[in-house]
Amino acid sequence: MPVGANVCLWLLADIQSGRSDGGQDDGENWMVDAPRFTKHLVNKIEAMGGLQYIFLTHRDDVSDADKYAAHFGAKRIIHEYEKAAQPDAEIILKGEGDHDVGSAGILFTPGHTKGHMVLSWQEKYLFIGDHFASKPYCWFSWDDQIESTKRLGDLSKFEDIFPGHGKWFSVSPGDFPSEIEKRVATMAAAI
Ligand SMILES: [Zn+2]
Repeated sequence: MPVGANVCLWLLADIQSGRSDGGQDDGENWMVDAPRFTKHLVNKIEAMGGLQYIFLTHRDDVSDADKYAAHFGAKRIIHEYEKAAQPDAEIILKGEGDHDVGSAGILFTPGHTKGHMVLSWQEKYLFIGDHFASKPYCWFSWDDQIESTKRLGDLSKFEDIFPGHGKWFSVSPGDFPSEIEKRVATMAAAI
């Protein structure tokens, strides 16, 4: 598994290339949050077949999303509450519900910021942005962040979790809700 800033991009590429059902989303490549625009990465993405969507979990990690979008003709996705960070994004999601875009599920998870969202891929891979960031790094509402965390436990069968910062981790099938329970307890105890 590749590591570093582009782990999410490569992960989705790997999933795509590993598909066996010939589904309609062949060739749908996503970037989750954006790194700096570099020729090296552009070459990699080109070799992968380009980029269709750039999902921006929240305002903090947009970096050079605009340059990738322009180069690849990709659509940037951000919530309206975060759009100051990327005002000309192609898809601005509104309201406090969830959305399906392409093959991805996008869940509204406010807390770390007001319009923070996470991306669910086939209900197995969860790209959580900074949703698990600790209380000192909560810029909007810690109570909302706890509520959003609880909700993730209700909804999901996730096995691989990819934070915006730090290492990705796996849980055994079916263990995600209990992992969430532990996290909620820790979060509720944070001062
Ligand atoms: Zn953040």
